[in-house]
Parts: sequence; structure tokens; C-alpha cells
Amino acid sequence: MEVSETKTKNFIEQEIDKDLAEGVYDHVATRFPPEPNGYLHIGHAKSILLNFGIAKEYDGRFNLRFDDTNPTKEKEEFVESIKEDVKWLGAQFEDRLFFASDYFDQMYDCAVKLIKDGKAYVCELTADQIREMRGTLTSPGTNSPYRNRSIDENLALFEKMKSGGFADGAAVLRAKIDMASPNMNMRDPVIYRVAHMNHHRQGERWCIYPMYDFAHPLEDAFEGITHSICTLEFEDHRPLYDWVVKACGFDPGPRQIEFAKLYLTNIVTGKRYIKKLVEDGIVDGWDDPRLVSIAGLRRRGFTPDSIRMFVDMCGVSKSNSSTDYAMLEYCIREDLKMKKKRMMAVIDPIKLVIDNYPEGQTEELPIVNNKENEALGSRTVTFAKELYIEREDFMEEPPKKYRRLYPGNEVRLMNAYFVTCTGCEKDADGNVTVVHATYDPQTRSGSGFDGRKVKGTIHWVPAKESIPAVVRLYENIIDEEKGVYNEDGSLNLNPHSLVEMKNARLEPAFGEVQAYDSFQFVRQGYFCVDAKDSKPDKPVFNRIVSLKSSFKLPK
Ligand code: ATP
Ligand code: MG
Repeated sequence: MEVSETKTKNFIEQEIDKDLAEGVYDHVATRFPPEPNGYLHIGHAKSILLNFGIAKEYDGRFNLRFDDTNPTKEKEEFVESIKEDVKWLGAQFEDRLFFASDYFDQMYDCAVKLIKDGKAYVCELTADQIREMRGTLTSPGTNSPYRNRSIDENLALFEKMKSGGFADGAAVLRAKIDMASPNMNMRDPVIYRVAHMNHHRQGERWCIYPMYDFAHPLEDAFEGITHSICTLEFEDHRPLYDWVVKACGFDPGPRQIEFAKLYLTNIVTGKRYIKKLVEDGIVDGWDDPRLVSIAGLRRRGFTPDSIRMFVDMCGVSKSNSSTDYAMLEYCIREDLKMKKKRMMAVIDPIKLVIDNYPEGQTEELPIVNNKENEALGSRTVTFAKELYIEREDFMEEPPKKYRRLYPGNEVRLMNAYFVTCTGCEKDADGNVTVVHATYDPQTRSGSGFDGRKVKGTIHWVPAKESIPAVVRLYENIIDEEKGVYNEDGSLNLNPHSLVEMKNARLEPAFGEVQAYDSFQFVRQGYFCVDAKDSKPDKPVFNRIVSLKSSFKLPK
């Protein structure tokens, strides 16, 4: 995509400009704060690239911080995968890697400060009672009977919570704000709970854990984040975050700015759903190439550049909308178009015998690797009497307008000769097993020497010299006709989301391929060597995207 010279700033950049101009902050610091409870997906890529991009643009700092304050769902595996994905996307964090759990002592001190300032109290209502007394959007809540405990009593009880004197759920620490606030988040929210649990980094050190709404703004404040960029669902939490940060003595605290999440039409993005597909064994792990997890996209053959282009094209907005997956496909095609060799691979082979080609003879025909990019050089391909072509490029009884091989028809073998189909052989069930043709030796350049033209061009590989391969063809894991969700909340799965072609053949010039190598297979699409299942003697390719598209670039 052409990046226009006069790039207009998005609303977040405009707000930052204003803050800097008004002297609210004299620098910019952003962060990406994932919870390590799953793998990252394309939506997170937007947040990562936005935060990293802004830090870079303003010569500021970018932190990667794990929001690991909830020990129930968090795992080391997720920490490692997230680090890898953020790095792969090109967002450098190097020594600016942090864990919220490292701040547990500081958070505890903040809670004690709130108690001492009369802004927090230990409440012994049950979770149900707290919920019932919270009121509704139209009616105020009711004060807890524990709300007016003395500071000393609160300090002693909070200490008791910390030292294991309460069972899970028997006591919580609540911020003392306003039970009548029109914003439900401000109705004395719980800020610490008792949970006798093992934490992935802290082990058994703590049996009280800070709640997200208390921990999150403090983490930003501790790190000196100036602009806490997050998604719209946190807009209603902003007053609480501002309260927490101010009450804990940070001035100015971080400024939160919300933007709309990235959604893809008919595509599963939510961690919760991806997790279920993984746990139910419907996909081959978090990096299954059908998923839009970053790991899945990488394995499928998407590049960081294509994802950056996509995120840029989506822009940053204040209102939720959904983007077509075709736009992501457009971006990867654009990215690979000039960079990749265009090679011949036959995915569903059928043998083509050139009956008038001399037995035992072969010749090396020259081919340019990418007509639009000379720098990619050229190669040769072996032509022989026995070739493979795509099964669908022959029809014994073709419909009108079929331009490929059928008895009596002449076509061009790409980069080679004109051949005329003479017939076929079939097995006992009537399936075509071999196609026969004759070639015209005078058409080697791929053009009619006498000015005659052919309407069809098909690709091929030499039968003996070609390399066997497995090719995986992917479709959306969701059945788009039915929509993503069933009434019971389960997903509508597409039974054809993975079709494995086990007998594919590659032209010899592919040689030995490496994980993540990608190519254009002429007439078919872009394909990438699978990093998990490919073996030197049996390469496995994932179809990244087909060549055809109905996508139109937005004006
Ligand atoms: P999900 O619910 O999609 O699994 P999450 O919001 O629970 O994701 P977190 O680890 O909490 O995942 O998110 C880390 C950051 O990524 C947050 O700042 C969040 O706002 C942002 N984020 C999550 N999903 C999207 C999305 N679809 N588009 C843009 N940003 C997102
Ligand atoms: Mg979350």
C-alpha cells in the first residue's frame, strides 16, 4: 500500500499532541498489557502495533507487561508464546519486560495507604450479598454494614487477610467511594480478595490478590505510562482507574484513551473460543493455521509486514465495526507478490503422456522466477515425456467455454510446448488415470510458430523428477453460511476447513525447502512450508491464500 506523505494523525495521536503541547506530560510512554491466559490473536496485533508505533513516533518508551494478577488461568507457556509473538511483529521491548506480579508488594502498600486515608475497608459480606446490595443502573446501592469500621480495625483485618486468617471468599478489601454513583464501577468495588492459590511466578507467597480494576491502573502508574491505550469496554472503568491512581498519590497519573476492538467478520478471535477449539481437539493447537492467533497466522505463512499493512488499513476508531477477512488476504498477496518465486506445483496430479516425445529424452527449459521482479532471477525446469498436470485441467466431456485439455483441444504447457489432447485411459470404475497428448516441437517458446493461438495455458511438472509433497488447503473454520455462533453459544464449524492433498508434486527447482519458506504456486496461490509437520523428504505446504480475490481496495 502506498503510504501517503501527509498522513493524517489518528484521534489518539491528536490527544497525545495536545497533552504534550499543554505540558501535561513531557514524554510519551505506552505499553501492551496482555494477560498470560492464552495466545495472542490478530486483535492483539492491532493493540501491539498501535502502542509500539506511538512510542516510536514520539521517541518514547514501550513496555511489554504481563498482567498476571489472576493466578487461576495463567501459565508460563502463554508468557513465552506472547513474548515470541510480540517480537515477531517487530515491537521491540528488550529490557522493558515487566510482570504485574512483581508489583504485589507495592500494590499492597497502596491498599494500606487507602485504608489509612479512610478510603478502603475490609468487608465480610458474601459475594452474593455484595452483588445484591450493589443496586442497579436505575437504583442506588446500599452501604455495607462494615463500611464504617475504624482505620485500625481495617488495618488489622487486612493484615489478617494477608496472613491467611480468612478462608477464600470470607473477606475482601473494598474501596470506599460512593454506593449511589451512577457508574456501577464506583460503588465500593472490591480491590483485594482472599485466594489460597499458587501463582505462576510468586508461588505460595500471597493468599490475597488485587482485583484487575485496582491492579491495572497502578501497574501503569508504577511504570510511568503516560498514555494507557485500551479498548472501548474499559471506558466505564476509567473513572475508577483515575480514582485509584489519584488516591494512591500519582499526579498526573496515566491518561487512558480507548479505541474500538478489531473484529473480523465471521472469524473467531476471542481467546475464550480459540481456547475451546484447542481444548476440544478441533484444531491442532493454538498455532493451527486456520486460526487468527498470531502463532497460527505465522505458521500459515502470513508475514509481519502483511499484518502491519492490514492494521494500518483498518485504522483506529472510536466505534466498533467488523472488517472483512478478504482485506487481510489482500495484504498478504500484496506483500508476497514481488518477493516470492512463482513456481509450478501440481496439487491433485494426473499423468500426462506426450506420445510423440522421444522416449528417454529430457530438456531443461528456462523460466524467470517472477516476471514482475527480475532480481529474483531464473531457473530451469525439466521437460520429459511423462508429466503431471492438475486433474481438473482435463475433462473428457467439457462444458462450453472450457479452455483446458479435452480430446482434440490444443493448449499451452506453461513455459513449454503446445500440446494437443488425443484421449485418455480409465480404470474399471471409469476414473481417468492417464491423459494422452502429442506436442508440436516447433512451439517450444510457448508460442505458435505460425502465429496460431491457443486459449488455455496449464501448469505441469515432470513425472519422474518432481518432488512429492503434501499440500493443505484451508477454508474458514466457521461455516459462513450459518454464521459464527449457534443459539446455544457453540460455534458453527465448517467440516471442510482443512483438506489435505497427499499426492502433490513440485517441480524439481523447489529443492530442499525450509520451515516458513513461501512461494507462489502458479495459477493457485501462495503457499508456505509448515513449520511443525514438514520433513526434508516430505515437505508439507499450507495454502496462505489463493490468487483470486473479490476484494476491492477501499477508496
Ligand atoms: P480476548 O477477549 O479477545 O481474548 P483480551 O482483551 O481478554 O482478549 P488481554 O490479554 O486482556 O486479552 O488483552 C491485552 C490487550 O489487547 C488489551 O489492552 C486489550 O484491550 C487488547 N485487545 C484485545 N482484543 C483486542 C482486539 N480485538 N482489538 C484490539 N485490541 C485488543
Ligand atoms: Mg482480558
